[in-house]
Order: sequence, then structure tokens, then C-alpha cells
Amino acid sequence: MAERKPVHITPEELAEQRRYAAMISAMANRPESYHVVTYGCQMNAHDSEKLAGMLRDMGMTEAATREEAGFVIFNTCCVRDNAERRALGNVTWLKEVRKRNPKLIIAVCGCMIQQPGMAEKILRQYRFVDLAFGTSNLYKLPQLLYQTLNSDRTVIEVEDVDTIAEDLPVKRLRNDAAYITIMYGCDNFCSYCIVPYVRGRERSRDMEAILKEARELKEAGVKEIMLLGQNVNSYGKGLEGGVTFANLLRELDEIGIPRIRFMTSHPKDLSDELIEVMGKSRHILPQFHLPVQHGNDEILRRMNRRYTRAQYLDRVRKLRESVPGIGLTTDIIVGFPGETEEQFRDTLSIVKEVGYDSAFTFIYSPRTGTVAARMDGQIPEDIATDRIKRLIAAQEEGQRKAMSRFIGMEEEVLVEGLSRRSDADVSGHGRHGVSITFPGTEADIGQIIRVRVTAMKNNTLVGERI
Ligand code: SF4
Repeated sequence: MAERKPVHITPEELAEQRRYAAMISAMANRPESYHVVTYGCQMNAHDSEKLAGMLRDMGMTEAATREEAGFVIFNTCCVRDNAERRALGNVTWLKEVRKRNPKLIIAVCGCMIQQPGMAEKILRQYRFVDLAFGTSNLYKLPQLLYQTLNSDRTVIEVEDVDTIAEDLPVKRLRNDAAYITIMYGCDNFCSYCIVPYVRGRERSRDMEAILKEARELKEAGVKEIMLLGQNVNSYGKGLEGGVTFANLLRELDEIGIPRIRFMTSHPKDLSDELIEVMGKSRHILPQFHLPVQHGNDEILRRMNRRYTRAQYLDRVRKLRESVPGIGLTTDIIVGFPGETEEQFRDTLSIVKEVGYDSAFTFIYSPRTGTVAARMDGQIPEDIATDRIKRLIAAQEEGQRKAMSRFIGMEEEVLVEGLSRRSDADVSGHGRHGVSITFPGTEADIGQIIRVRVTAMKNNTLVGERI
């Protein structure tokens, strides 16, 4: 892999962007309102908060729907082919809205645009798109929008560089909980995954910048932070002074934000040191998302995951020893090329052995541009569908058993909203990461409330206030 150094966007470049934002806010022909449509993971959700922050600084207000907005921006994902198709379908649909609102400006950004050939495709097939830019250029939105407003041609900017931009304006979705991106990109090249090709090489933010952001969030009354990165466990790679994710967590724990979570981890980089820090910390929540992807060593090897089933199970054992009762969740793929019935059964058995609180299960779908998409032995749809049904049944059974350990337990719940089923109930996540519903009102939203879990209904825990 070629060595690539991250490019830190300088304060001068960011000041230049603020000048563009000020110029746009003074323009008579600028859109009055914006709407950001987000696809994909939490990293994208947080990028959308930054887009919204920059648009707010350009004097625009947020429109509730894309039909009402003067500027619509699609922040896309390309992890799965169908996510890409869905995004392009929705972009095309907006062409109709443009007929009613000729001043509508349409932009597309995010991972999908960063793929080789996508910019040319936009120019050829989606000529009604006004602006397209890649993940590395997100900080340049003011300048790019300024160019768009002063041109009748599509503005496209996609650079193959690994940028880090600090101090971008952010318009957060919630006041009680916030995302902090700690690292960008991924160097792992799992054979089925497109992320390293579109998000660039791994690069970590300076620890001081992260701690400063966390302190500001604490001052603002935020109760929970979620640290984000494609592989947070390798945070610190390339930074001076031997910084590790465990060091970062230790420092963040001292700040005193009540709840700290993180996502996503790679089992091969989960160190003993990190597990020990979790065991001793006061604020890092006892929960861990540890993607296993498969239970068979040969498939794990062909997925290029670089751990074995035994090594994965060893990490689970160690986590459970250090953090008793820890909530474990995972990601699993069925129907990877060449997967035999026997190999699939290894996935079923690891699910039973671990007993996850929840799992994201996927049928493998080939992603153009990845190594696995070129592998022989693609699994027929009927076999993959049968396997995922059996996997979901096994997971649900394991989940019921795993979650029954909470009944009778006390949990602190950060209330996220009214329950979907009843206005007399609220729901939120407990410290172990499991959703809990209990009687409450809108006044509870954003509060941490102590609850005793009394029962489990349809895989959801219910409780009562203490
Ligand atoms: S660790 Fe693997 S699955 Fe996760 S983003 Fe990196 S390449 Fe993709």
C-alpha cells in the first residue's frame, strides 16, 4: 500500500471558506432554505451535521422536507449497490420537483461520488445535478456553492487526498448526545468492502483537538458522546508520541461526560490495554460493537479479516472478564463467495456461543471494485436467503436469552423520545446499549433516568422508574 500522508486543512483555508459563506449569505439569488438527505452510517450522519452547520452560516434555514427546500443535498453511501441505486433514484425524482421550482439547486456528495468514474457518470447521465463533491472536499462547501450560484454548468470537485479539517461549524441533531469523529478512512481492505477506496487511508485527529471538542460538549450539557471512526481501535496510528485509543479513552473519561460510546471496532486491533481501560473507567459504557462477520476461519481468511474464530472468541472472553455483563453486538455476513453449508454452520454456532444482544445481519452482495466481487463461487440467492433466515432465527433465540439477564436489574436510561407505541411511555438506551421503554413524558427527553427492568416484550425491555 502506498504511503499517503494526511493533509491538514489550514486555518487560512478555513477562513477563506468562511469568507465564501459570508458572500453567499449576502447574495440575492442564494437559496433561502436547505434540506440534507443522509444515507449510510453514523460517519455520514455526522458529516451531514457539518454540512448543515456550514449552510446555517450561509444564512439558510432548514426545510422540513426536500420539496420545500431551495437547496437539497444528498449525502450518499456506496457500501451496498442498492444504497447507491436508492440515492440515484431519489436524485432523479428531484428532477420532477425542479419543474415546479426551477430555482432548486441539487447537490450530491459523500462516498458514492468518491468512486472512480462517478463524477463522469454524473456529468453524462445526471446533468440536472448542479454540484457534486467528494468526502475529502466537504469543508469546501461554501466555495463550491458560490461557484455553483455563479455558473450554469455542473460544478464537480473530487480529490484523491486524505484531508483532516478541524473546527468546521456543526449543527447537531441532538442537544443531549453528540458525535465526535476521531479518525477517518480505513487501511484494512476487507475483501468485500469499498470503504478504503472511497474514504482514503487511516488518519487520526490530534488528541488535543478531540479533548477540546469533548470539553466544549460537556460545557454545553451534552450527556453522551459517540466516538466515530471506521476502525477506532487503531486510533493514533501515524500520530507522534505513541498515542493509542486506550490513552484517548483514559483522557476522555477524566473530562466527566456521563456516557462515552464508540463505533466501530476491529477485533484484530482490540488491545488488552483498551479492555483494561474499559474495566476501570467510570464513564465508558459497558457495551461493545465487535463485528465478527463470519464464524469460519477459511471464510475469515478470504474476507481478509486477519483474525481467527479462536482469536475473536478470546477477545469476547477477555471483555466479559473485565467488564462483567457487557452488552455485545455484531455484524454478520452470510453467503460470502464459496461459503459451504458447513462453513455457514460455523456462523450459526458462533452466534449461539457468544449470545449477542443484537446483530446486524446481511446477505453478501458484490460491491463493484472490491476483491470479493471478482471471486468465484457467488452463492445463489435462494441459498443465501435460506441461510439468512436461519441466522436471524438463531440470533433472535440467543438475543432473548442474552437480554433476559437484564430483568430485575437497574439501568440508567438516556431518554431519546416518546415510545413509538404509546404517548404515555418514553424510550432510550441503557448503559449496556439495550433499548428500554418505561412510563414517562416529553419532559424526560434528554434526561438520564434510573429504571428497573421488569419484563421483556417482543425483544424490547420494559421497566419502571426507581
Ligand atoms: S474494517 Fe473492513 S469492513 Fe470495516 S471499513 Fe475497513 S475495510 Fe470496511
